[in-house]
Amino acid sequence: MNEIYLDNSATTPLSETVKKKMIEAMECYGNPSSLHSAGQAAEKLLSEARERLLLGFGLRPRQKDGTVVFTSCGTEATALALFGVAYAKTRRDAKRILTTDSEHPSVARAMDRLAADGFEVVRIPTKGGVLDLRAVKNALDQKILLASFMLVNNETGAVYEVGEAFRAIKARYPDAVTHCDAVQGFMKCPFTPTSLCADLITVSGHKLHAPKGVGALYLSNALIKAKKIAPFLVGGGQEDGLRSGTENVIGIAAFGAAVEELRQKKDELTAHVAALRQYAEERLSALEVRINRPEGAYLPHVIHLTLPHIKSETMLHALSADGIFVSSGSACSSHSHHPSEALLAFGLTPHEADCSLRISLSGQNTEADIDALCVSLEKNLARLVRVK
Ligand code: PLP
Repeated sequence: MNEIYLDNSATTPLSETVKKKMIEAMECYGNPSSLHSAGQAAEKLLSEARERLLLGFGLRPRQKDGTVVFTSCGTEATALALFGVAYAKTRRDAKRILTTDSEHPSVARAMDRLAADGFEVVRIPTKGGVLDLRAVKNALDQKILLASFMLVNNETGAVYEVGEAFRAIKARYPDAVTHCDAVQGFMKCPFTPTSLCADLITVSGHKLHAPKGVGALYLSNALIKAKKIAPFLVGGGQEDGLRSGTENVIGIAAFGAAVEELRQKKDELTAHVAALRQYAEERLSALEVRINRPEGAYLPHVIHLTLPHIKSETMLHALSADGIFVSSGSACSSHSHHPSEALLAFGLTPHEADCSLRISLSGQNTEADIDALCVSLEKNLARLVRVK
């Protein structure tokens, strides 16, 4: 059976360019910290990938506006950002941390831990997929240490006005540190650290046709100079002392290749996914489903649907039996049996959240994939049990 992959927000297949780069990097066995030429060859792969990520962030690598630290995943990059700033203790009386009520668990659960450790965590509403800028302004006072807002919501595709929010914070409290989880937005919607007004930005390889197990954190030079972040993995001092541990050379080289490939094909891919989204909306609107379109900006890659009283999981398995892969929510929240926090924050009832599907596109999808999805959805909408 043909497999149709429409779960690209969970993870993506490797691109052919990435596979080639990985094979090349597999031949390079040296430790990048070693001084001999085998080590230097590995270090060369790391610095090429670092430059490619900086270019992906819209920066000029030679000018050194900021730096990129490689980690084992997006979750680790975020942990370095949040715990690293909270425990750097540069401002001992600053205890307030702002975040949204619809973050990925890598941020949301880190915030729970910081709250348990005595930080005051304020969760800003994102109803309808719109970051409440007035609530951000109302939450400001001199105790603000950190704000962490995601750029693109992984379940609804909503794009939050992170730049506006961070600029408002920095205008009043320039010492506050700003972190953005851009895992779903990187190389899909245009931004730079300056446009986001972000000191720290998390990204992850496996959402961009690179392998799982590699992520990165962008850090501004100003933040590093002011020592506002402390490493939590200490040891050999790799990654400028910010993340000890021998680097995953193959994964990092692959991440760099994926970013460069997307950078080269950006315009073509943006147009392709936008056209595919429009086609999908036209086809889906003929079916008995509701598209949960965010009220503000959104990424065309993510289509969130509510089904008529059919449990997400029931439909997901029925589609899977036809070789069509979608998601019943974010891959991480599918580990828990609670309704997704992000969907409740969006405004769905627990029952609606329980009867919802996420379809997520990449440049590799075609209209034929959408046709197959709609045929299977229509068949299963007529046949599956409804729950009230
Ligand atoms: N942040 C967002 C918005 C995500 O969607 C994900 C993964 O689903 C992550 C963070 C975590 O990234 P990783 O799987 O690389 O740890």
